[in-house]
Amino acid sequence: MHNKHTYCFETGDGKNRSLLGSKGAASCELTQLGINVPPGFVISAHVSEAYFANGYLITGVMAEISEQIAKIEVQTGKIFGGESDPLLVSVRSSTATADSGLMKSILNLGLNKVTVAGLLEATDDARFVYDTYQRFLHAFGNLVLGISNDHFTDQFNLVKSAAGINLDSALTSIQLEDICYRYLQLVQQETGSAFPEDVYQQLEMVIIANYRYWQSHSIPEKTSISAIVKNTLNTPAVNIVTMVFGNLGDDCLIGHGTTRNPYSGEDELYGEYLLNAHGEDVKSGSRKPKNILEMKFEKPDYYRQLLALRKKLESYYQEVQSFEYTIERGVLYCLQTENAKLDVEAMVRTSLEMVNEGLIKQKQALLRINPDSLDALLHPQLSDSQAKTAITKGIAASPGAATGLCVFDADTAVRIAKSGGSAILIREETRPDDLHGFWVAKGILTSRGGKTSHAAVITRGMGKPCVVGAEEFKIDTKAKFAIIGDLRIKEGDQITIDGSTGEIYVGEIRIRAPSFTKSLRTLLSWADAIASLKVLANADTPETAELALHYGAQGIGLCRTERMFNAADRLPLVIEMILASSQKEREEALAKLFPIQRDDFEQMLATLSPHSLTIRLLDPPMHEFLPEERQLLDEIDALNYFLKMSQGQRITLETLGQSDSFNSSHKALNETSILAALNKKTLMLAKVRELSEINPMLGHRGVRLGISYPEIYAMQIRSILEASARCIKRRIQVSPEIMVPQVITAQELNIVKLQVIQIQKEVEDLYKVKLNFKFGTMIETVRACTRADILAETAEFFSFGTNDLTQATFSFSREDAEKKFLPLYQQSGLLEDDPFEALDVKGVGKLMEMAVELGRSHHPDLKLGICGEHGGNPQSIVYCHDIGLDYVSCSAPRIPIARLAAAQAQLLNPR
Ligand code: PEP
Ligand code: MG
Repeated sequence: MHNKHTYCFETGDGKNRSLLGSKGAASCELTQLGINVPPGFVISAHVSEAYFANGYLITGVMAEISEQIAKIEVQTGKIFGGESDPLLVSVRSSTATADSGLMKSILNLGLNKVTVAGLLEATDDARFVYDTYQRFLHAFGNLVLGISNDHFTDQFNLVKSAAGINLDSALTSIQLEDICYRYLQLVQQETGSAFPEDVYQQLEMVIIANYRYWQSHSIPEKTSISAIVKNTLNTPAVNIVTMVFGNLGDDCLIGHGTTRNPYSGEDELYGEYLLNAHGEDVKSGSRKPKNILEMKFEKPDYYRQLLALRKKLESYYQEVQSFEYTIERGVLYCLQTENAKLDVEAMVRTSLEMVNEGLIKQKQALLRINPDSLDALLHPQLSDSQAKTAITKGIAASPGAATGLCVFDADTAVRIAKSGGSAILIREETRPDDLHGFWVAKGILTSRGGKTSHAAVITRGMGKPCVVGAEEFKIDTKAKFAIIGDLRIKEGDQITIDGSTGEIYVGEIRIRAPSFTKSLRTLLSWADAIASLKVLANADTPETAELALHYGAQGIGLCRTERMFNAADRLPLVIEMILASSQKEREEALAKLFPIQRDDFEQMLATLSPHSLTIRLLDPPMHEFLPEERQLLDEIDALNYFLKMSQGQRITLETLGQSDSFNSSHKALNETSILAALNKKTLMLAKVRELSEINPMLGHRGVRLGISYPEIYAMQIRSILEASARCIKRRIQVSPEIMVPQVITAQELNIVKLQVIQIQKEVEDLYKVKLNFKFGTMIETVRACTRADILAETAEFFSFGTNDLTQATFSFSREDAEKKFLPLYQQSGLLEDDPFEALDVKGVGKLMEMAVELGRSHHPDLKLGICGEHGGNPQSIVYCHDIGLDYVSCSAPRIPIARLAAAQAQLLNPR
């Protein structure tokens, strides 16, 4: 039966959650499935909407409610407000998304002096009746009449202490009756009127109280306009359901269950129950519930009923269900069901098993998992069971947790790792010459920098936990300690960091290892078979390439060559190249770098064979490889001091403010070596000053460097092509791609292309092989997007560098934006997302679409991909699929997430 505003469970549309709320819809669905649900009906969300608009209930609603009640009276044989065996109901509200802001349920509505007598007669159980009555009076008095909970508990405790009772369950029926009497008096005193005896009036008051509660609780202050709009589209419906009782004796029980284990995913009923109990007993924790598996032995018949219910629920919903139930004198009632909240491990396991059982299709299995949730399986996590309080919070820069001994320099990290220990490398900020410490440290912590800082970008590529910008850390790297508030943390102290939340803890916290399980691998193999986007990795070393392959990458979409320069054996050569005062000197330095790069590429190509390896020519400004001016000035000061010491002048340490440790490390130096070092540092300082730029990200970098110093790109191109030739000689199938960064004009690209053609000829002649490779460009400047048609004449592929493209489109520098105003912009709804995390479809996306269209108009086979960080963001991956890209490339640990997101994109929008 349904009228305009109310729907009984037998006819309400269980799919219409916005009309009936999640609970109302579920009750209708369950009833219509033939599952035993206590009779009831739903007051639709339209009624609450009208109430919010007008401030009163729509005319005719109460009359409809009476009709629905009359129907229940026929079904149950009980009368609402009746003198014997009266009908009692529960009232609970829900919205389509079952979100916050909803009032607690009111149970046992319909009790008054007359019905209490009727219930006494029907049950012959005074304790049960007065217990039920006092619970109702308390809930109604508090939630509907607004009387403080404390007043009720004061009265309750008064009776208990007068009787010398500790446990609520020891209260007798007479004491409970006394409590009811006191509650009625309390209502009279607090409200100036008697407790409402008319059961329909009770019902109307509760319905309105639910609406008012939602109105004042659902929209917290400081909520963005878009959140308010979302919320008001999601108003509550109210469910009125016949009460059933789990507390009428030992043949009754209440409980909740999940159709499979929500933590492990094991295919076994999971949950708890309490014999002869009231719903609140579970929530209040006053009695310890039993494991549902015990019911097998205690009440085998009831357990069988639950197994049958479990089967019915799963085969209908095709999803693991969490349900509430009551068994009243042997009859099982299902009160609620909803999709269970599963741990990601359970999500993966149940997806696989439900497909194998034929319960769901592969498509459903792939769509039911939130790709981002996989992150928890791919990184170490802090143990949930250990109590912990963070001492401070920085920026979550690379996910995963790590614990180890504090070290303040990379060399000590190496020493600790060699002796079998675990280290957390703590720096103000990191630089290329810290890299050897990155490889051995369990995690990295910096007090400065944001999500694009050196530490953040490198660790994300390595899949290593990292927290940056923990500004409360005052670090003294020379003296090897950090101060945070009153706390002093010195080298060797244990610390734990969580790169997923940015939280930092003193001491050791247990860590759960990541698990790229067989189930997940199987699931992702289904995803690969469906996806039309390929998933490649951003990786710069053979180690990260192997990690990427382990996670299922189908090649490497971005190898940042500068990362190869950062290793300890290369950096001095790079610095030598930068310090060169002539082209000849530079070429000499490059000649030393050449075999190293070539061997790196050969190893990478061999590791990846037969997959593609896209190598980007040098991108960052050169001063990134040099120390900072401040550091050089300090070092020059120190060297001057030691020079004077070695020349026999007496200068105290204090005059120069140097520490003892610094002194001793320089004792071994003699005058000649000090002079040589001083010379080198002074030269470096001059170079640092010469290369310094106001805005390096928009300065002398990318192809601009290649044009200014063609010998640098020539060395890299030769390394790539010779590495390929060597692989071919070794019969290793390779597929290299050369990519040019920061391009704005076709002429730039053509200059590099000519170099490539020239070197290709030389290498083919030298090795007597035919080289096969692609030549392409990053699209990361706004101008490249607008000139994509012309660029496509030279380029065989485009790779969108959305990190730079986002900065350029917004005119934001990422670090400043994320630190200073992006949180405010997001909070106030000016920007929905952080555009550096989720691709800005309306702005950056429009530029990408333009480039795709222009590029393909000139070059229909143009290969298109993305290698900015958005390539690992599920929402952005869906967009990349929709605009027709061929691949996404992301850091190794995001590969599984991207593979799933790519399959979901294809399932939702096949192409
Ligand atoms: C980009 O700009 O998106 C990109 C991948 O290059 P990088 O982050 O190295 O500047
Ligand atoms: Mg870039």
